[in-house]
Amino acid sequence: MSYIGRFAPSPTGPLHAGSLVAALASWLDARARGGRWLVRIEDVDTPRCVPGADQLILSQLAACGLHPDTPPVYQSQRGDLYQAALDRLVAAGHAYPCGCTRADIAQANAALGLNKARHGDLVYPGTCRPDRGGLKGKPARAWRLQVPTRTDAPDGLWHWHDRRLGPQSQNLAEAVGDFVIRRADGLWAYQLAVVVDDGEQGVTDIVRGEDLTDNTPRQLWLQQCLGLTAPRYLHTPLVCGPNGEKLSKQNGAEALSLDDPLVTLQQAGRALGLSAEGTTLGDWLAAAVTAWQDQLTRWPLR
Ligand code: GLU
Repeated sequence: MSYIGRFAPSPTGPLHAGSLVAALASWLDARARGGRWLVRIEDVDTPRCVPGADQLILSQLAACGLHPDTPPVYQSQRGDLYQAALDRLVAAGHAYPCGCTRADIAQANAALGLNKARHGDLVYPGTCRPDRGGLKGKPARAWRLQVPTRTDAPDGLWHWHDRRLGPQSQNLAEAVGDFVIRRADGLWAYQLAVVVDDGEQGVTDIVRGEDLTDNTPRQLWLQQCLGLTAPRYLHTPLVCGPNGEKLSKQNGAEALSLDDPLVTLQQAGRALGLSAEGTTLGDWLAAAVTAWQDQLTRWPLR
């Protein structure tokens, strides 16, 4: 079986205990399957990137013995691939330009009696859809991907499987609406860049934090529009801080302590429910691969 996994950090700060769990899990899954493990620096959202954070992350991974099999790729250097994908989506009638501001979207939603927001993003009501008259003279701002109304599924839901979380579903049209793939500021949206890169890099297995679960139906749909094979997904448990909130750079999670990388890795292993012993980094990682192989019966590939 050929297996390609990846860890795809955004260089918005150093790794913290939560992001190490995702990195370790994706590394272990690849190693346990005799596969390859890639690192991709997701630096498309340039205003949020912190200079030097990429090097810091790579050195934190190296200090933990997590070495990628090929040199890391940087999304900031892959704009041509994203443009080619957007061109294909437009040519196939999947993507369209949108002239709405946030205020326009809020107003259109209010008129429909909707006020649903998703992580701060309003559900797009389809104002600039080509079948509703398109831009109607407004200048184009962002590009959006038209989501399907699942007339083919009796419950109208998008169903998918997560190796740890089991069956998942989402109504893309109601929960998200047509979503942005190129932002109004000209930057490539995470959804497009991640799908294009996973496809282009031949990624077969995505192992990442549970906070990203909710993006998966959008990414599966985008893969379908681009004719890409869907990878398998495993979303790992989140790590909570002392206040019970999930650790994230946004809520000030501390940078990973690397005074003793073995202790740091053991903590990450515990968050994944692994019992591995070892007094050196190499021994512990080898034991963790074996423990992960046992874990594969709990979180099987399928
Ligand atoms: N770059 C994203 C993040 O750091 C992860 C993307 C992914 O794993 O799909 O949150």
